[in-house]
Amino acid sequence: MEENKQCNSMDNCEVPSKKVIEFKPPVYEQRYYFVKNLVNRHGLRKIADLGFSDATLLWMLKYHRCVQYLVGVDIAARPFEWGGGRLSPGVGGYIIPRELDLTITLYRGSAVQKDSRLCGFDLITCIELIEHLDSEDLAKFPEVVFGYFSPGMVVISTPNSEFNPLFPASTFRDPDHRFEWNRTQFQTWAFDVAKLYNYSVEFTGVGDPPAGAECVGYCTQIGVFQKNIAKPTESSISEPEEHVPEEHVYEVVYTTSYPSLQQSKYFRLTLSSESVKAIGLMKSRFLRGLRKREDDQVVPLGSCTLQFGLTEAQRAEIEQSPKPYSVGEKFYVPLERLIIYPKVNHLVVGSMEKLRTILAEGLRQKEIKVRCRWSWLITKHKASLMSI
Ligand code: SAH
Repeated sequence: MEENKQCNSMDNCEVPSKKVIEFKPPVYEQRYYFVKNLVNRHGLRKIADLGFSDATLLWMLKYHRCVQYLVGVDIAARPFEWGGGRLSPGVGGYIIPRELDLTITLYRGSAVQKDSRLCGFDLITCIELIEHLDSEDLAKFPEVVFGYFSPGMVVISTPNSEFNPLFPASTFRDPDHRFEWNRTQFQTWAFDVAKLYNYSVEFTGVGDPPAGAECVGYCTQIGVFQKNIAKPTESSISEPEEHVPEEHVYEVVYTTSYPSLQQSKYFRLTLSSESVKAIGLMKSRFLRGLRKREDDQVVPLGSCTLQFGLTEAQRAEIEQSPKPYSVGEKFYVPLERLIIYPKVNHLVVGSMEKLRTILAEGLRQKEIKVRCRWSWLITKHKASLMSI
């Protein structure tokens, strides 16, 4: 965690004349990247963003391999205005399915309303949200987010008012802001909340101040709260029951599920297509070697190696494995060779049994696509590709 660049007074701090301050990248992006890095570092799976607005943060998070549940809540959720489509899997999601499932749901609702579907998350983010809450909602916010939703982590970002004198305008940064806190105000509030709900909190920020004005701190102040694993102290409010009674208040405005290798249909299709690709490459090399030969003999294939994207060690392993061969018009690929191809190997976790069973199942269920007038034959020890 970065050190907060706090100083107690601005007496020794030269605040440069007011001019447009340019952040590179823009400070809103820096806030999103901050969350992205946190998610990566902790391998977080279930994340909710309160006040998701145009869903840019959720859209960035959907690319993380570890993320499996993304939820957005916004009082003014209008997903069709910005095209909820940016959160959908798209064609690419079907061509190369994710390793793990991913479900994304957007709700219309308030961050100060309790809804049991928000309980049990790894992380709840509130990026530039709290300053939009009036005093009544701000008072309810900790009990709902920390007491009831009770996630493993909470990230709250809010403007640092000490930075404001550097901006040309002397008003709040957004007309909808109800307040903008200095660092002491934010940290006092955050420490009180953390203590009450048994979290620890650390402070950092994004948007560096210009040279000479370091004492004002970051443009955006950020509190990262982490739930304490130890039992709550007597003075703290007890954690909610394991099984929170169902309470659905939010309105679902958008939901989507991604194809993934955890779903047997996409797993089998991917395995088939990776196998077909590997066999296709073996076959073309084999045919090149056959060009000079016209006989029906079994032809051993020494050079039938996929060259691209393989390490020396993988190439050597392929060379040592049983070789593809042909008998008449049939081209045989021993499964022992097919399974060495890294993508195939990764999919079946090195299990020959799994590879054989799934390819055979595919044949029965006609799920392996017949491509380029070639069809599959599976025997006990080999998969063969036969011209039809
Ligand atoms: N997090 C976004 C948007 C910040 S603007 C970003 O960083 O870009 C604040 C957002 O909070 C707006 O989209 C607004 O509609 C939403 N909002 C305001 N009050 C809210 C409340 N009580 N509950 C949920 N969302 C709220």
